[in-house]
Amino acid sequence: MANIEKHREAGRIHQQVSETARGMVEEGASLLELAETVEDEIRAEGGAPAFPVNISRDEEAAHATPARDSDETFGEEMVNVDIGVHVDGWIADAAFTVDLSGNGELVEASREAVEAAVERVEAGVSTAELGTVIEETIEGYGYTPVYNLTGHGLGEYEQHTSPSVPNRGVDQGVTLESGDVIAIEPFATDGTGKVKEGGDEEIYSLQDPDARVRSRRARQLVESVAEEYRTLPFAKRWLDNDRLDMSLRRLKSTDVVEGYPVLKEDDGFYVSQAEHTVIVEEDGCEVTTR
Ligand code: MN
Ligand code: MN
Repeated sequence: MANIEKHREAGRIHQQVSETARGMVEEGASLLELAETVEDEIRAEGGAPAFPVNISRDEEAAHATPARDSDETFGEEMVNVDIGVHVDGWIADAAFTVDLSGNGELVEASREAVEAAVERVEAGVSTAELGTVIEETIEGYGYTPVYNLTGHGLGEYEQHTSPSVPNRGVDQGVTLESGDVIAIEPFATDGTGKVKEGGDEEIYSLQDPDARVRSRRARQLVESVAEEYRTLPFAKRWLDNDRLDMSLRRLKSTDVVEGYPVLKEDDGFYVSQAEHTVIVEEDGCEVTTR
């Protein structure tokens, strides 16, 4: 299969599992069951998760995923579900928000922003122009884009490559070229527009697969992660390793592994997210995740 076909196949799987995920967001339903069902279905369809299913709620914007023993269920919340699928390293990355909190307009704001940006994509367009249309669309709803989160390019086994796709007007962008694969992901909020790192950390990635690691357990962890996930993000709940927390702490302190704490707005605010992956064409784009 050509690489472009692998992108399309990842997108097809993404569309299918997103339908599954949407059907599982309801009051009283289990977060862990949603994440594991989607990740299993991705594998059953011949893909692999490009990162753990992110389920970020209310003031959370990104990097939340249930812990192994989580018994959390959905309440009257805003629920962002961000899913990544890859086929041989070629990634589809897209997200949607379901509102159970009574803030439906906020969901519309990010959804319309991603649609407006996708409309503008073609070879020769600057990412700055996409940022401007995203910002204007969200502000048109009376909300604020999250300025310090961006869309991004997608590479082989690389979830975040250049160019970054801003969620605001910027002075200098990057000109898109035919064949570029990018994820556009506006976040809208009724809060400050700037997310900060919170306490919980369930997602990690390997920074240096070839690092010399002295501890035997930590070395085994690096070897198994390198084989299964390369440098793509993984969930703590995916690992079955004695003294996992100690190994992760050790590997983080030597920069062999990076952790991704939950990113969130201030308490009491809400964040919605919408995201699609597109392949840039001469006069338009192909959305792989829709
Ligand atoms: Mn995403
Ligand atoms: Mn993304």
